[in-house]
Amino acid sequence: MYDLVIKNVRLVSPTNPEVRNCDIAITDEKIAAIEDTISADQAKSIYDGKSYLAFPGLVDAHMHTGIYSHLSEDAITESKAAAMGGVTTSINYMRTGQYYLNKTGKYADFYPEVLAISDGKFHVDYAYHLAPIRYEHRDEIEMLIEKFGVTSFKIFMFYGSHGLHGKASKGSQNEFLMTPEGEHYDIAHFEFIMRSVQQAIEKNPDKSDEISLSLHCETAEIMRAYTEIVEREGTLSGLRAYSASRPPHSEGLAIFIASYLAHETACKNINLLHLSSQKAVDAALMMEQCFPHVNFKKEVTIGHLLLDVDSPAAGHAKVNPPIRDRENVEYLWSKLLEGKLDWVVSDHACCSAEFKLDNKNPDNIFLAKSGFGGTEYLLSGLHTEGTKRGMTLQHMAQLVCHNPATRYGLRSKGDIAVGYDADIVLYDPNDSFVVRAAESESAQGYTPFEGMELSGKVKSTFLRGQLIFENGKTIGESKGKYLKRPY
Ligand SMILES: [Zn+2]
Repeated sequence: MYDLVIKNVRLVSPTNPEVRNCDIAITDEKIAAIEDTISADQAKSIYDGKSYLAFPGLVDAHMHTGIYSHLSEDAITESKAAAMGGVTTSINYMRTGQYYLNKTGKYADFYPEVLAISDGKFHVDYAYHLAPIRYEHRDEIEMLIEKFGVTSFKIFMFYGSHGLHGKASKGSQNEFLMTPEGEHYDIAHFEFIMRSVQQAIEKNPDKSDEISLSLHCETAEIMRAYTEIVEREGTLSGLRAYSASRPPHSEGLAIFIASYLAHETACKNINLLHLSSQKAVDAALMMEQCFPHVNFKKEVTIGHLLLDVDSPAAGHAKVNPPIRDRENVEYLWSKLLEGKLDWVVSDHACCSAEFKLDNKNPDNIFLAKSGFGGTEYLLSGLHTEGTKRGMTLQHMAQLVCHNPATRYGLRSKGDIAVGYDADIVLYDPNDSFVVRAAESESAQGYTPFEGMELSGKVKSTFLRGQLIFENGKTIGESKGKYLKRPY
């Protein structure tokens, strides 16, 4: 007897171009069988799949749960938003310093606290990427892999001298990152992080493809100079001004620096996060040519694929790197369709309406906070705009399920196949809806995607065989578990 049989779905596979009409059987939270028909009397319970598409549960590999409100609350509301979007695995960036837990120290002390707060809160399965901020963190990388199953790390290239919000950031680098006097969050620190990550890769041959370093690539010096020029000239405003203040070549240059450092340190697994522009993508492709021994993965966000500088969302769509003009957006799509970009994420950072814009100057984008949510719309957004441009369902399943799962050491996530976790999204490609923040489980209260009509809708989400979302509502208590990787 199977625990559950989901009858009559059209299965979307990341590894097979064919969409298969079938039934899926689940036992002990795992996929037990996939057959053309599975008899109802072989199952303790039956769920009617109504001929919907069945995608593997999404792996949203870039979220920032707990950045602007306390992790204990954010983990609940924002993981509910994830379940709405068909996401069953949320991988979150976490670091010491201001925001998040607002404290510093060794990860040996800090990270157990993160895990203790997270425990029992998430409605989807979760993991963390960690950013070595203090010098001593470099020596903790191997311990984090061994003890906590954290296999991915991050560098924020511009933090050292530009802060999180550019001009709106107050205080010094050491205050912001809470680093000891005399330490610098700079290129030299990044080099030594890379050396430590590479050492860990060499010491763990069984998981060497699954240990990686991610970089947010923007150059502080370029951004500082251009922010000043844009403000002095005063001819641009809103998202156009913000894009001009952090110009695409600031991304391109940072990608060159990161890639050369990866070459210098022989750090072999590099993830270039949220490429937003033609220059960024072209720089990444050039670096791939230059350094074929480095395995580069290139990420793009659903925000950069759906929004452009003319979006009515204006300041609500402030994010780093910035939302770009339509030409850049279409370039991202063209490279995504060519298979040059590896995965799509939300970069979900719930930044509440009251906090997002400056109270006195709501129209001044330079004073707004960075980041917004969007995990709810990851699949519908990709499907809506992807279908218009001829993207296949298989390709979509690669971009939001299989590719991030593979890179980040989630060996039984990202596909619907026997032995995998029964993470399944039932999706109706023929339904459509207009995005309304009011209908989201997120605590954000607005969304830059407001009013967009998306074709295709998540109907039900199963996490390890348990129904966690149906009919527009999340169901039951939080059932997410921490994923020690490789998982
Ligand atoms: Zn991010």
